[in-house]
Amino acid sequence: MRWKKQAAACLIGFSILAAPDAAGAASPGKAIPQWQNVNAFETQKEKDGSLFNSENYNFMKYSQIGQQLLKIQKQSHRMTVTKYGKSANGKDMYVVTIADEKSKGQLGFYKKLRKQMFKNPEKAQAFIDKHPDVKVPVIINGSIHGTEFAGSDAVLQLIERFAKGNDPETAGILKNQILIFNVAANPDGRIYATRFNGSGIDLNRDFITQSQPETQAMVSLIKEWNPMVFLDLHGYVKNYGGPDRPGLIEPCTPPHNPNYEYDLFSKWAMNQAKAMESEIVSSRKEYKNTNTATSKVDYQNMKGAYIPQRDDTAGWDDYPPIFTPMYAMYHGSYGYTLETPTNDWDGVKWHYDAVMGALTYASQNKSGMVKDQIEVFKRGINFDHPFHKKGFFPKAYILPSDPTDASATEKAVSHLIKNDIEVSQTKKAFTFNGKTYPAGTYVVNMSQAKAGLANTMLWDGEDITEETPVMYDISAWSLPELWGFDAIQVPAESSVKFSLQDVKRAHNEGKLIGKGPYKIPNTSVKSVQLANQLINKGYRVKRGADGSFYIKEKWNHNLMQYVRQSGLTIKSETIPYRSQNINKLHITILKDGGMGKTQSHSGTKLALERLGFIVKELSPRDLAAKGLGAADVFFYNGTSNLISYKNSKANEEFGLENEAQFQALKKNLTDFVEGGGKYIAIGAGASSATKTLGLTNVTVNKGNPDSNGIVNVNYGTTDLTNGYHQTDYGFVYGPVWYTNTNGYETAASFKNGGDFFTAGHWKNRQAAQGQAVIIKDKSKDVTLMGLEAGFRDHTDYLFRLLSNAVYSK
Ligand SMILES: [Zn+2]
Repeated sequence: MRWKKQAAACLIGFSILAAPDAAGAASPGKAIPQWQNVNAFETQKEKDGSLFNSENYNFMKYSQIGQQLLKIQKQSHRMTVTKYGKSANGKDMYVVTIADEKSKGQLGFYKKLRKQMFKNPEKAQAFIDKHPDVKVPVIINGSIHGTEFAGSDAVLQLIERFAKGNDPETAGILKNQILIFNVAANPDGRIYATRFNGSGIDLNRDFITQSQPETQAMVSLIKEWNPMVFLDLHGYVKNYGGPDRPGLIEPCTPPHNPNYEYDLFSKWAMNQAKAMESEIVSSRKEYKNTNTATSKVDYQNMKGAYIPQRDDTAGWDDYPPIFTPMYAMYHGSYGYTLETPTNDWDGVKWHYDAVMGALTYASQNKSGMVKDQIEVFKRGINFDHPFHKKGFFPKAYILPSDPTDASATEKAVSHLIKNDIEVSQTKKAFTFNGKTYPAGTYVVNMSQAKAGLANTMLWDGEDITEETPVMYDISAWSLPELWGFDAIQVPAESSVKFSLQDVKRAHNEGKLIGKGPYKIPNTSVKSVQLANQLINKGYRVKRGADGSFYIKEKWNHNLMQYVRQSGLTIKSETIPYRSQNINKLHITILKDGGMGKTQSHSGTKLALERLGFIVKELSPRDLAAKGLGAADVFFYNGTSNLISYKNSKANEEFGLENEAQFQALKKNLTDFVEGGGKYIAIGAGASSATKTLGLTNVTVNKGNPDSNGIVNVNYGTTDLTNGYHQTDYGFVYGPVWYTNTNGYETAASFKNGGDFFTAGHWKNRQAAQGQAVIIKDKSKDVTLMGLEAGFRDHTDYLFRLLSNAVYSK
């Protein structure tokens, strides 16, 4: 599920919010189930449930799903099963397509329509009028959060029905729709009973970054089908709407992202939500009320569900396109998150009924809904956005390539293309705003079908602090600012003309120029990755005073291959006199096993790995028992509860057990630092923990834990901030800054001006203005970093703050 924000809820008059999974205790009075079992079919240990769920049931294990699908398929002529992608741990993702066998040709019919949608949307709309029997695709996504088991079980029941059923309702839906089921969107999460995937990433936060294979597969599925409706099955919301309105059905409260064509979505979304609600309510007598005594969810007497847009003013928004349905909306889908009330078979039925309501509504309103979906593309192609203020969308974005290191721009170009966004290159040189750009410069022409998606990825974002009391999740994600490439807006009214040709993929083959030695500039994730790759391969690498890397090597074929793969252009240069040898370092990061259902260290771990470091995870208990061993560098990024022994029942296993363990951990870290080890704390939780551990005495100041956004930072001329401009971007989530920093070197501060916060949501931030945000102890090797440099594998531009910290003296 997504958490409803307490602050917003209080603000709008809720006094008691049930947060069943937050409490994390198993239902009282019930036998604690066996959490581990060895599956008969695999040696893989699959969990029977999660301590974070307040109910438990005999859900279908991931390892049984493949066989179950084959069994249904054998009895069906309309069903296709494909292994569509793989999870981070290499598990198959099953996608099932169900299309009526009597009119299978109509699948092609839809494909024809889809082509037309993007070429000539007017014609596509007219085609719908002429062919009212065209089928439209609907995607149903099961259990992207692994602990929310009910979604995949509902999907399996729906597959069974639509694969075999011949009743009039089933036939009626299949006459109008092609059903595509992503059966278990998060295989690793279902196996291990975790919200996140095998890399510790919440997939339902990854749809802008798309760093994970599961997300990439889903993006490709959405792009392949451009579904008219997208239903995302989650759990568990019991009574946001009061005791007789369990569950949750979107659409969302404000703020809505301005890059949507929200008026077209709104024409249908509320009514479709009500159709889901009424289908659930009309079959309420069929529910078993299995866990009503403890869950307080009385299905048999429910009167509705909680619909955030209808029932609230804030607290459950669709602003960031990091959520799956919100991302699908940029492909014209009517996208909904559905939160079933309980983790049991009643909860499965709730999802089943909600989906049936959505499908029935989609059949009844198909032609109007799909014409409005096409209208989204039409507005884009015609650069005609009647819902928006004139000039909201720029005419184009120019993405100039840095001649020394174009890797960030090239990553962005590939990313945009993968997301169905057209990218062009100029055939000739051109001048804009007095600057001349060479032929071959990348341009995103905003007259295109998915202009909204292009803009939400490329814009700077906005400060929405005053618009809403609180945000659900991130509120700024600008790819140019956080990935580190230029995107120059050409205003709508500009008369500049480009002569363009399509780009199918970004150029990215590296070159090694000259006889050596070579310089690798400290300019991007790729450049640091190359330097680390060479260090790991045994090359002699030095680091200059400006943070650049030097390879003491003559030209050779192997080196050329590494450079070619990196995509960088590397040239010969004399190694400066004062350069330091750098060696392969042992890096250890404190492991968050899943506290509060997240792995708070995962972003930094992935960032370090992308930078080419080999990173070892160490749990708090192992750190207490065994110490840091051969580690040279220790990272702590995550909640301060990792070093606590007073955690809730569900969180207990991820922290410590007792005071003695805490003291042992503290001693091991103190010995490590006193022995010359490098200690780096990132973010508010780790900064507080560093204080608890007695490794710093500065004042750690904090903003609201959910405040987040892009900040302007003054970077000093220090080893820690090499490769950044004097004023440059940073990112905060749960902001933290430091005062009383005597004895510390300040490497970076929030800009001292009212404009230090550029985009996102951060109330009461004045106190942070101009304050220190990266500091280093002058007497021992302890660095505190308030910027979330490795946030969710997204903040590429800030990753080098981590490598700088590792290599700084
Ligand atoms: Zn969820």
